[in-house]
Amino acid sequence: MNKKLLILSILFTFTLSVHAQESDTTKVATVDSLRTVELDTPAVPVHPVRTLGKVAVIDTLPTGNDALSIVLFNDNTWRYILAEDYKNDPEVFNDHWNTSASHAYGDVDVNSLPESTVIRLVDSLESYHYPYMGRITSRYGPRRGRAHQGLDIGLKTGDPIYATFDGKVRFSKAAGDYGNLIVIRHNNGLETYYAHLSQRDVEVGDWVVAGQQIGLGGSTGRSTGPHLHFEVRYRGQSFDPERIIDFTTGDLRRPELLLRRRHFSIYAKYEQDFTDEEEVAKQEEAERKAAAAVQYHTVRSGDTLGALARKYGTSVSRLCQLNGIKSTSILRIGQRLRVK
Ligand SMILES: [Zn+2]
Repeated sequence: MNKKLLILSILFTFTLSVHAQESDTTKVATVDSLRTVELDTPAVPVHPVRTLGKVAVIDTLPTGNDALSIVLFNDNTWRYILAEDYKNDPEVFNDHWNTSASHAYGDVDVNSLPESTVIRLVDSLESYHYPYMGRITSRYGPRRGRAHQGLDIGLKTGDPIYATFDGKVRFSKAAGDYGNLIVIRHNNGLETYYAHLSQRDVEVGDWVVAGQQIGLGGSTGRSTGPHLHFEVRYRGQSFDPERIIDFTTGDLRRPELLLRRRHFSIYAKYEQDFTDEEEVAKQEEAERKAAAAVQYHTVRSGDTLGALARKYGTSVSRLCQLNGIKSTSILRIGQRLRVK
């Protein structure tokens, strides 16, 4: 364990220092650098951490690394977490910290948000867990004239619901249509919503870790049957949870998310976006291949169009077409001809 801890500490310290240098430039990306950011945030899935049951923290221990603590749970398990000073970012946890309303950012206009934001979904601890694994019964988007700001996953009443990332409970009570609702604010500024619960196991102000049971699924509030209504919001604006979680595998799609302002719309479904992006990627790959296939020949003494056509497995007319010349054109020594 000591060796593992040491390696983790080194990795983590390194990551933190890299992040510190990058934070100004990558947290809010300009439109010009979007392409670069996309290339820098590959879709490497993050697997869920081990599931925790309904646990309580017994103790928190220092590790010798200021950024890391170890928490001990009452089920004899332990986990690395960010140390208090690192996880309790006042910019995240003091700003709009409203524990009496389900939505805390009512005064934040979507147009005041940057065109794009890079959200670090997990740090090197990779603390992520799916909220519940099951069949999606209703996706994010418009539904019967109402805006469905999250997605629904069918379940049996009493099934455990897990915190998606580490964070602090901002809201935990019955809230109208939501029924029993828990809202967790995470270190990266995202909030996750877990609605229609039959039981809430955490209270406002509790720190939770990914994979910790926060309550039980149910059908409270405006609900026609047991399901989890799950939302992800950034500064109050919802976006399609499928952007970050692949509910077919339970994996987080990628460690970092490039969140665009246009994603904050119930019409901006991940699936549609994905199809578009896939199409663009295919086109780019085709263009890249075409560009890679281009080949030139520098004319040497004795070269003729006929000989070059044979050498490169093409035809004289194709060579003429590629280079805008006639079959009767005189080739100059040193002339660069495109042959493919
Ligand atoms: Zn729903």
